[in-house]
Amino acid sequence: MKEHLYIHGACYESSSGESFETINPANGKVIAHVDQASEHDVEKAIQSAEKGFKVWSSMTAVERGRILLKAVALLRERNNEIAALEVIDSGKPLQEANSVDIHSGADVIEYYAGLVPALQGTQQDLDSNTFYMSKREPLGVCVGIGAWNYPIQIACWKSAACLAAGNSMVFKPSEETPLSVIKLAEIYTEAGMPPGVFNVVQGDFRVGQLLTRHPRVAKVSFTGESSTGKKVMTDASGTLKEVTLELGGKSPLIIFEDADIDNAVSGALLANFYTQGEVCTNGTRVYVHSKIYDQFLKKAAIRSKKIKLGDPMNIDTQMGALISSKQLDKVMIYIDKARESGARLIVGGSRHNSKETENGFFVEPTIFADCKDDSEHVIDEIFGPVMSVLSFDNEDEVIRRANNTKFGLAAGVFTKNINRAHRVINQLEAGICWINSWGDSPAEMPVGGYKESGIGRENGPETLKSYTQIKSVFVRLDNIDSPY
Ligand code: NAP
Repeated sequence: MKEHLYIHGACYESSSGESFETINPANGKVIAHVDQASEHDVEKAIQSAEKGFKVWSSMTAVERGRILLKAVALLRERNNEIAALEVIDSGKPLQEANSVDIHSGADVIEYYAGLVPALQGTQQDLDSNTFYMSKREPLGVCVGIGAWNYPIQIACWKSAACLAAGNSMVFKPSEETPLSVIKLAEIYTEAGMPPGVFNVVQGDFRVGQLLTRHPRVAKVSFTGESSTGKKVMTDASGTLKEVTLELGGKSPLIIFEDADIDNAVSGALLANFYTQGEVCTNGTRVYVHSKIYDQFLKKAAIRSKKIKLGDPMNIDTQMGALISSKQLDKVMIYIDKARESGARLIVGGSRHNSKETENGFFVEPTIFADCKDDSEHVIDEIFGPVMSVLSFDNEDEVIRRANNTKFGLAAGVFTKNINRAHRVINQLEAGICWINSWGDSPAEMPVGGYKESGIGRENGPETLKSYTQIKSVFVRLDNIDSPY
């Protein structure tokens, strides 16, 4: 299979003569050869997006919303086909992709399609002869750069607010997962979106750099590692672009002694093993009150051992393969470091090896107990199925320890005491917080990080505004008082 770029409403062959392979992480087999975009191709995509912007931004918000809603219907209609593609490209289980990835992307497009006609400017009288008004105008050509863990969801989330507000977008998916975003581009075209409004350029970091440094790009919305986010911000500063950065995390999940323990175990398992642990908001530092510590570990171990790991295309499979052999090596190195730190291995700790998984990048769900705050596996983002459990004795202590990180993406509390839940959440330095839950991310709720986990937000009403700029217009009804 060959995969190309998508420019001006059609498939576009790269001029670089270079291509890269995308492989199925569950068996190591090549799925497709994908064009690497050249500088010339990136310029073509930007020019196309400029043309698309002119047409798209002159349409009314209701007209744009109508086209976005058609795309939503097509996404839902083709859910299973796109989910299967996402599974072979990313290694995640079909039962997740079928029910979450495309639906959660479509939900956000639907939300902004409905919200954008209500976006208004303001008017304020200053005195009897003067007033000003402010208009919200789109920014122009925006860039989206995606990570590999939720490829189509990220492309939907980034394009939804951007396009609803009247901008056009050039999107670069991760070279690990280049396939599903082409389906989104085709669906946008089929839904009636004018050519150039949503373009896809494929390739590695060189393509990302060309986009973030491009002088005619107004904004970059990036999802990826914090270290890459810093590079993107530096490159974008050369032309003073706006940036939204959705970055990594090492989020604390705090379980108090009065929590419903089975529910808290459910939360901790979701917060560590969903999508093989490759979720930015994962609650990988699990602080459990000393009174229920042993009980928690026992229950978590029993349930983790029952997790069905294997061929992700099998609908019963609950955990699939990590994205690449590089990611597998990284996760195994952190597991070794955890062992060396003196942490107690409760379950897992090995690469999964059966006839079904021997050629893929599978790691068993892994739990370490008695972890220390200053161990590397507790400090760094691992991005794999590795839960670190730590014991605590009181509220002030756990808040201080939970906040002792450069990250600030998510945090969660399990307790039946609602006063304590809010008291603790109010003191946690994180952009996304859950009480007695983990991972929920409805379209209405803004998501993004504090500290080195990001800048700006995705979803929710404010994000739509962040894809607009305010033009203030001052109006005088009488003559100017001139000294000349
Ligand atoms: P990554 O290595 O930072 O790459 C992200 C994207 O940036 C890829 O498309 C990558 O291209 C591109 N890129 C690399 N260097 C670049 C540069 N200098 N300039 C512009 N673009 C560049 O991250 P990843 O490994 O794909 O994803 C995992 C990370 O994403 C984790 O840290 C996770 O926490 C984070 N994440 C955060 C969120 C959130 O919402 N906060 C959501 C999902 C994931 P190539 O890889 O193709 O070269």
